[in-house]
Amino acid sequence: MIYLDHHATTPPSQAVIDAMAAVMAGSWANASSKHGPGQAAGRVLAGARSVVAQALGCKPAEVIFTSGATEANHLAVRGLLAAAPEGRRRVVFSAVEHAGHLKLARELMDAGVPVDFLPVQRDGTLDIDAATRLIGADVAVVSLMAANNETGAVMPVAEVAALAAATGARLHVDATQWIGKRPFTFAEWGADAVSFSAHKFNGPKGVGGLLLRQGVVIRPTMPGSQERGRRGGTENLPAIVGLATALEALGDLNAETARQAALRDRLEAALVAELPRVQIWSRGVPRLPGVSLLRVGRWEADVLLGRLERLGFAASSGAACSSSGSAPSHVLTAMGVPEDEALCAVRLSLGRTTTDADVDALIAALPTLRSLLPAAEAVAA
Ligand code: PMP
Repeated sequence: MIYLDHHATTPPSQAVIDAMAAVMAGSWANASSKHGPGQAAGRVLAGARSVVAQALGCKPAEVIFTSGATEANHLAVRGLLAAAPEGRRRVVFSAVEHAGHLKLARELMDAGVPVDFLPVQRDGTLDIDAATRLIGADVAVVSLMAANNETGAVMPVAEVAALAAATGARLHVDATQWIGKRPFTFAEWGADAVSFSAHKFNGPKGVGGLLLRQGVVIRPTMPGSQERGRRGGTENLPAIVGLATALEALGDLNAETARQAALRDRLEAALVAELPRVQIWSRGVPRLPGVSLLRVGRWEADVLLGRLERLGFAASSGAACSSSGSAPSHVLTAMGVPEDEALCAVRLSLGRTTTDADVDALIAALPTLRSLLPAAEAVAA
């Protein structure tokens, strides 16, 4: 099976698996214990934190390890909101945040917190004029993703950071799809808090972090003594070391971006040439390198994905977390895409382990794919 769903998750590298196994076998003590084995585990934790800080351009004390980006997103928004000064109660999310994060937005609304959503344009980019209108002096937190997990569209973080700074609002950036793919330096981003997740860059699942700018106060959602009182619970040391190992192995991100973008562009050109009525969303705007969100005429996503799987390719319909239901993607809906077209959306996402041969194999399979798809739907616009 050729795996083309790297935005959902990525395979852990052998170096990550080996590093985690070594920690599980040798450094299983509680990193907070005062005895020798505990202190040794504590040193392993401190070492991993330094590696992460070095790789992400922040101070070690600015790293809060969490169970992944979902938790980091919750901690950022709930924690910054709870610590905001009186008079700042409003929270502003983009309308295309990760589905899990938008559930938090709904929860806040149900609890009486005023929430606004920043709209996007038809090409999937943020409507910056609306952001200028909606980010005002009563806003506690602005929560914006660095790049969208479905379309790959890059969001204007620097411009929104300037708007937030001008009004005194805190800015949280969900950089889950960005970190590991594009260069990142926390100190240069102008965000107060940034979420990331190891399984998006060939690390383990269930671990990630929140970078929190020094001096910014947050109320923990899981109180405890670990992570300087900002996130309780015995640290998942094997996973944290796996995360650090994956970050360390990233190498030259610009070279990898160029490689994946060239593969993706070659694949998109072939899809347009070989299949009828292909539409690729956000194709003309700055996008993450390996992703392509598309539809083929009115071929329903489930039909297309089933045929692809039969031919040996694993892909998904938008976000894995919401692909079990048949509701249209909230991202495409926010872009003004009609429901019947949105239900045809299939996401192909390449990664570091995707080879030229993988893309060649899919291109070679396109004529067969075309012949397998229901003819009546092939001619619909
Ligand atoms: N935010 C974005 C943009 C994502 O793509 C994902 C993962 N699909 C998450 C948050 C959730 O990350 P995690 O699986 O680490 O909780």
